[in-house]
Amino acid sequence: MIYDVVIIGAGPAGLSAGLYAARARMNTLIIEKEAAGGQIATTDEVANYPGSAENATGPSLVSRMVEQAEEFGAKRITDTIESVDVTGKVKILKGENEEYQAKTVIVATGAVPKHIGCPGEKELTGRGVSYCATCDGAFFEDLEVFVVGGGDSAVEEAMYLTKFARKVTIVHRRDELRAAKSIQEKAFKNEKIDFLWDSVITDLKGDGLLETMTVKNVKTGEETEIHADEDDGTFGVFVFIGYDPANKLFEGLVEMENEYIVTDDNMRTNVPGVFAAGDNRVKSLRQVVTATADGAIAATQAEKYIEENFG
Ligand code: NAP
Repeated sequence: MIYDVVIIGAGPAGLSAGLYAARARMNTLIIEKEAAGGQIATTDEVANYPGSAENATGPSLVSRMVEQAEEFGAKRITDTIESVDVTGKVKILKGENEEYQAKTVIVATGAVPKHIGCPGEKELTGRGVSYCATCDGAFFEDLEVFVVGGGDSAVEEAMYLTKFARKVTIVHRRDELRAAKSIQEKAFKNEKIDFLWDSVITDLKGDGLLETMTVKNVKTGEETEIHADEDDGTFGVFVFIGYDPANKLFEGLVEMENEYIVTDDNMRTNVPGVFAAGDNRVKSLRQVVTATADGAIAATQAEKYIEENFG
């Protein structure tokens, strides 16, 4: 069968596109390789999505988005798309499990957290190194935690981690935070938060669990080894240094800028019938509210495209 719309990715952008597409009575398929939700599924507090409940969490918001898309008739499946052919009028997506055909494709693949790139990081992920405070924070009850980064994510997640950790140290490569002033102010007032300025982590070591890290002062070049407290035996390193767009599948197929997909205001890429929505496209603000808006626009434009091209 040929779907009207195939959406790749079930984060807020993909789920919103699914809701709008299905509500417009288009035959809609949402394909996600892991669990639905994207980055928001690992966010503890969603305070800035207009109208969200006072105690809304990422997972609660996502599960309602999934319900809504499905209520309107969007079909949702788990598969990993391995290659795409978007040159023809009918687009072909080859998944690990199946092949899909579609009149339009909405790429809502989002972005993934960046890694520090130092020795030991990969081996110690899940053993002290984490990219998700909501998922792993509770493992660090009464332990010491280091948060890498100076943006909104790093500072907000550092504050969240103070609920569990004995002490949270923000390790930032400059001597000034990038985070919004209002967020900075809260962090500076938090007695559990400390700062290690002009510093980067250059090495992570541990036998099973993270035990030692090397921190380099980028101004003086001095390297310091930090060891886990003897009684603790380990500590945590949470990395929040930005995101990489998940656009590999479409490299060389649609126009990109710094690995982000270029669209017009109607979410159209330079390839007819292919739209992008959410954090993987060039835009000035990557938030749930802008992702859902992108999804809605992409779906309505896909409908228009189908009317014009498939009558
Ligand atoms: P971001 O704003 O890009 O900040 C990344 C931080 O990591 C920067 O401080 C950067 O340092 C540092 N960094 C980057 N590469 C590094 C490396 N290789 N080693 C060490 N440090 C590195 O990313 P984000 O904080 O994830 O935020 C992403 C977007 O989401 C932003 O638009 C942000 O405003 C938004 N956001 C909003 C909220 C909110 O409104 N409540 C919450 C979370 C995120 P430099 O400062 O030196 O560049």
